[in-house]
Amino acid sequence: VRRGLVEWLPTRTILEAGRVDAPAGPKYRNLERATGQDILDVNRRGKYLLLPLSGGDTLVIHLGMSGVIRQTTSEKHIRACLRLSGPPPNKLYFQDTRRFGRFLVAIDSDFSSIPTLNRLGPEPLSADFSASGLLRGLQSRASIKALLLNQRPVAGLGNIYVDEALWEVSIHPALPGKQVTLNQAKKLKSAIVDILSAAIASGGTTLKDYRTLSGGEGEFQRALRVYGRTGLPCPRCGTRIIRSLIAQRGTHSCPKCQPLPRG
Ligand SMILES: [Zn+2]
Repeated sequence: VRRGLVEWLPTRTILEAGRVDAPAGPKYRNLERATGQDILDVNRRGKYLLLPLSGGDTLVIHLGMSGVIRQTTSEKHIRACLRLSGPPPNKLYFQDTRRFGRFLVAIDSDFSSIPTLNRLGPEPLSADFSASGLLRGLQSRASIKALLLNQRPVAGLGNIYVDEALWEVSIHPALPGKQVTLNQAKKLKSAIVDILSAAIASGGTTLKDYRTLSGGEGEFQRALRVYGRTGLPCPRCGTRIIRSLIAQRGTHSCPKCQPLPRG
């Protein structure tokens, strides 16, 4: 999504910014302040899109479960809209069926009111991400799945990519983080980098709502090994993939490749 937006938005001026079908509240905080500011760039940290504005504020966008950024619309569930300077397309619509997304302005680019963003772990595709750092971030009794989803050992992983990465390295998703060995952390780090790189190159994973900026679907859903494949054979050993509830999320794993160590 960022790669699409960065070709389009800098250095247009936001002529008007506002909520559409969305109540006032923290998810759309200060949006009207964007009016009159230029979009300088389109950056990303973890799953947050960060658009620095000429007045010193930052437009913060999180797609949540079902957020889609559109250039045209005849759709329902449009939560926010920007009217932009320059030739068409010069409207940006934020559509969000399930309402987990955010589209707000952080005044003076102060992110302290967005705790997840403020405490995000290293970028997975940067030199800041290391196996030893990952191992340190996993020193908890919580399950490795919960820890990876909370964005602090490393930023940017959602439910799909956590399941795929843990299958790749044969780690049970309920394994307490502090039981992960350095060797496992090294493999996991590599798997995370490989999976995210491949997914980005494929334009993302479209299971239901997600669309690219041009309205197309991503293609990584064809490369998934366990996510959404309940009952189908494990690509490595042929055992049927199971779905369980771990960290309150539907979790897909191979009961043979990813055993839970005793104790
Ligand atoms: Zn297997």
